[in-house]
Amino acid sequence: MRQISLLGASLEIGTGLLTQVGERITSLEPRARKAFLLTDRNCARYAREVKSGLEARGLETVLLAIPAGEIQKRLSTAARIYDRLARAGIERRSAFVAVGGGVVTDLGGFVASTWMRGLPLFLVPTTLLAQVDAAIGGKTGVNLPQGKNLVGTFYQPRAVFCDPAVLRTLPPREFTGGLGEVVKYGMIRDAELLPFLERNIDAVREQKAETLEEIVFRCASIKAEVVSQDEREGGLRAILNYGHTVGHGLEAAGGYRRFHHGEAVALGMEAEAIIALEMGIAPLETLAVQNRLLKLCGLPTRTRGLPRRKVLEAMRLDKKTAEGRLRFVLPEAAGRVRYGVEVSPDLVAAALRTVSS
Ligand code: NAD
Repeated sequence: MRQISLLGASLEIGTGLLTQVGERITSLEPRARKAFLLTDRNCARYAREVKSGLEARGLETVLLAIPAGEIQKRLSTAARIYDRLARAGIERRSAFVAVGGGVVTDLGGFVASTWMRGLPLFLVPTTLLAQVDAAIGGKTGVNLPQGKNLVGTFYQPRAVFCDPAVLRTLPPREFTGGLGEVVKYGMIRDAELLPFLERNIDAVREQKAETLEEIVFRCASIKAEVVSQDEREGGLRAILNYGHTVGHGLEAAGGYRRFHHGEAVALGMEAEAIIALEMGIAPLETLAVQNRLLKLCGLPTRTRGLPRRKVLEAMRLDKKTAEGRLRFVLPEAAGRVRYGVEVSPDLVAAALRTVSS
């Protein structure tokens, strides 16, 4: 097992770790007598495994499996969970465990951070995206009809348990989407990760345990390093948004149905690398390296029929846009980015034209 520390949270990564989660929680939180487990219906089998581990150590455990999907990341589902917490007699020392993808870890984190002003929170991310990104860093949240993640908290979990073996049951598109974030980490901070991915692409596709462990460990280490320097996104944490300025615009313009988040980030990185090239910030080689990797991972770099005006409009409304200005994270080279770069709407429109050609 490999371990990383982040602002009081212990990030633990290991194949087969799921069977030890009950034991780890009881040793990290010895005063807990009860535990509440939140999961969704696709991840219930993993939550049941954790439940039996906790019960074997004498914890009274309640499990709630909500339907799957982004739509559940809303206040009414949070209210339903509060109701179950009340009925189960969950109090300040009880452990709250979220087992699932980013929807369950964001929603569970939000509920745990607000119930009785904060329960000890444990996360068991079950998607690649959640293991390398969503479950790390302490952002929790729910969506409102007015926008994504508009209500939320910063709340660090006590521990995050990443077991790459659970990724085996992920739908292929979810796994591939997660690779978009992996390429992003290489581009922003770890130039070595890119050739590692390229050399091991078959092992990645076959989900070989040691390869996935290495990837999750490297990505989680980068996120931990960046977040520990800038927890509240005052500066450096912005680099994690590489590909996301255009990516969020694509997701919104596609009604959050057309693109998987990782696909939108891949297209976003492609567009943002083109902008960097046009502005003389990155050489052509950087764009080529990234483009090759994205394709190897099975991610899109071009998409037809992009409603460009809608994408630009959505980007202007994004909460990452400062005072109506479009600011970007742009690559300088593989493994190095610049953040807070103002880009003219014309240049953004031209990059979108190329990506949709
Ligand atoms: P998700 O949680 O919706 O999971 C995707 C699908 O895979 C769901 O249907 C889920 O039930 C299923 N699933 C999950 N694990 C599985 C497994 N092991 N086997 C079979 N099926 C499984 O989506 P996601 O991509 O994990 O997360 C997206 C969410 O994460 C978004 O809401 C996004 O806003 C959030 N997010 C948060 C942060 C953060 O810093 N807090 C960062 C990035 C993304």
